[in-house]
Amino acid sequence: MMLVPPLLSETSKAQGSGHLARIAIIGRGFTGMMTAIALLKGLDKPFHLVVFDPEQKVDLSKGVNQSSSPLLNSRVRDLSVCPDHRDDFEAWISKDSALLQRLGLSRAGVADAFVPGEIFNSYVYERFSEALSRRTDVVFQIWSEKVSAIEPRASGLSVTFGGQRALFDTVFLATGYGLRDSQCEQSVSGKVEKAVVIGGGVHAVDRALRLLEDGGASHVTLISASGFLPQSHTRTAVGPANLDRPLPNTLRGAFRFLREAANLAAADGSGWQGIMNGFRLRAHDLWRGLTPEERSRFKRHVKSIYDSHRNRLPPEHYIRLHTAIAKGQIIVKKGKVERIATNGVLISGPSGLEVLLADRTINCRLRPNDLNSPLFRSVLEAGLASRDEVDLGILVDGSGRATTLANEFHGVFAMGPLGLGSLPDIDLAPQIVAQAHAAADALDSWIDEVAASREAARNIG
Ligand SMILES: Cc1cc2nc3c(=O)[nH]c(=O)nc-3n(C[C@H](O)[C@H](O)[C@H](O)COP(=O)(O)OP(=O)(O)OC[C@H]3O[C@@H](n4cnc5c(N)ncnc54)[C@H](O)[C@@H]3O)c2cc1C
Repeated sequence: MMLVPPLLSETSKAQGSGHLARIAIIGRGFTGMMTAIALLKGLDKPFHLVVFDPEQKVDLSKGVNQSSSPLLNSRVRDLSVCPDHRDDFEAWISKDSALLQRLGLSRAGVADAFVPGEIFNSYVYERFSEALSRRTDVVFQIWSEKVSAIEPRASGLSVTFGGQRALFDTVFLATGYGLRDSQCEQSVSGKVEKAVVIGGGVHAVDRALRLLEDGGASHVTLISASGFLPQSHTRTAVGPANLDRPLPNTLRGAFRFLREAANLAAADGSGWQGIMNGFRLRAHDLWRGLTPEERSRFKRHVKSIYDSHRNRLPPEHYIRLHTAIAKGQIIVKKGKVERIATNGVLISGPSGLEVLLADRTINCRLRPNDLNSPLFRSVLEAGLASRDEVDLGILVDGSGRATTLANEFHGVFAMGPLGLGSLPDIDLAPQIVAQAHAAADALDSWIDEVAASREAARNIG
């Protein structure tokens, strides 16, 4: 990859901030906060960090608007923000007896437990505050602004927000599922007869179950675009199973292999989930080896079933979901939402257009990355980044560096779900943690390389 120098010294001079590298993170969801933690821990030089987000209250597990904290669908053991201490989140929960009691957990049961998002929020913010308090050489600011453009300048990257501009050496895009939509959930007080929940993922299922159980609705229609619903985690945690043969390098071959291995595991009682976990460790290499046509085919035909097996429900949720379906409390409809109105939803399903009347509608779909927003249009038009070939997001390498089609890096990183077209599973917490630390290392080396080339240029001059 060609590293296009950002003229670090020029930027710093322009800002009058001495030798401080200026770094912006756009988005303060889990990805943005995780990137900040990794920079505070991994960047061994002083810097000025600004985090942009118009959202006043940021909930790390709330990509969709929800009335109370949903249960995370990863086990505690998989949610550490410290790659060197895989049990960090478990230890953080275990040391707090009052919290253990509130969660109804024994110390031995913490690693395998599923906990509400608000607990994970508190943990991440605490780790962030600790990392910040150890860095007296870092200037940190939160600017509650929406960023509308990033443009290259001779002296760095110009970030536009609320009618103003500021220069940065490096920008981390961490905008995930975009600006939150306060209209996602109609505010209705008291119990309603019929509710519609849009979405076929774990968050939609969680919301549908909570509506029934909190007495918010008597019946829920769950609209899944693909018709698939999430599968179940195993009752006790399984690690990644060792796939004994090499993975075929075609989409069809790889998924046939996966199906056969999963069927065998299901038959011998070890569970297909371990096979899926093992497969996911190899998914990145497989993805890189696929042709553009195969990747597009994956997006069109395989992604929804793949997602329903990788984003799994806690077993108790899975049982509650299927019990509610069997009792007729939840009806699942396959269809594309054409229109949301105050009294229901219009969908186009296998049998044509259908109106689903509802007293309350809750939209739990995660919005795809909006590459047509002003922010992304500016980044793409300026050649700071490019779209990935399946149009799921921005083309990135393993550390989140946005690369152009000419394989150049201009100082823009696209983190977390923004890189889904390049890195499978990069929307999940463990992958975001690893990527954030890899990005901090990459930035550290980049700053050193730029400083060295500047020094060399000065010596020649
Ligand atoms: C309810 C829920 C539960 C989850 N549970 C798990 C789990 O158990 N395990 C797991 O591995 N993963 C889980 N995930 C998935 C994972 O954590 C997500 O990938 C993650 O939430 C994505 O975070 P993000 O910060 O990239 O995006 P978001 O959460 O969407 O945050 C993006 C932020 O960027 C801001 N923003 C957007 N545009 C701009 C702009 N132009 N200027 C300034 N700011 C902007 C927004 O206001 C927002 O605060 C969960 C996700 C959700 C939604």
